[in-house]
Amino acid sequence: MNTHGRPELRSGPTASRHFDALGFTLEGVSVAGVVTWLTVPQWSLAIDCGAVPAQVVRCRVLALTHAHMDHAGGLGTWLALRRLNGFGHSTVYAPTAAVRALRAVVETWEQLHRHPFDWELIGVEAGDRFPLHTGLHLEALPADHVVPTVGWAVSRTKHRLIPALHGATGPEIKALKASGHDVNERSEELLLAVSGDTRATMFRDVPQLREAPVACVETTFLDHRCDQAHADAAGHCHVDALLNVPWANQTLVPYHISQRYAADVARKILMAKLGPHVSDVWPLLPDETLPADRR
Ligand SMILES: [Zn+2]
Repeated sequence: MNTHGRPELRSGPTASRHFDALGFTLEGVSVAGVVTWLTVPQWSLAIDCGAVPAQVVRCRVLALTHAHMDHAGGLGTWLALRRLNGFGHSTVYAPTAAVRALRAVVETWEQLHRHPFDWELIGVEAGDRFPLHTGLHLEALPADHVVPTVGWAVSRTKHRLIPALHGATGPEIKALKASGHDVNERSEELLLAVSGDTRATMFRDVPQLREAPVACVETTFLDHRCDQAHADAAGHCHVDALLNVPWANQTLVPYHISQRYAADVARKILMAKLGPHVSDVWPLLPDETLPADRR
């Protein structure tokens, strides 16, 4: 129980991994057609809300990839639970084409609940960027699905002293700054990319997916039961289409895996197929080994 006598928020079996060198944790659950949500608690960022466990409720920003039910169906519940828990203002990003209908859905829930939610909904196009957290930006990426869809990338802006000033003293740098000189150069460090639902064309066309140190890559189909032609027609990706992509990531996170594959079978196929192409493959499958208090 928390201090108001309300039960603590709890969540079910979840995949979770902390990336030490990058300073963030990725958590989530994703089963194609059923449910997808991802969170990075350090950034208060949720991507999609097919379900609304505690981790998603705590996030201040919700970046939707598209408005299919297994990705966006929890929107009203998310807003209601944030209100119930006193979490304050909430920001939602979604493809512009979906904004009107999403707003109408939430307005209907507001009427039924007889109170408004404290939220804003911002329409996005691929290439749009938004400040996320100190020094961090969220960028919408162009996905290729059967409804308007975006992927998401998070990057950090770094400020470094320009090389010509290496060796300069503190007072010298301060004086230059005071006289209006730019003493820093800026660089962008990609941290995370998430494809959203997409055909494999995205991995050829969108460099962030190949270059982010951690990339969540839609991998719905894994064997001959649904081949690449079927995946293409459904607006999804088959693992075989990922084999010739020049991945430069540190960790590839196949996700949105069809429920026709048991977790151990999916893990085996993905490691065998993608393992030789990427140094670290971490399929987003439920981790039943999490301690009970984290579920
Ligand atoms: Zn979809």
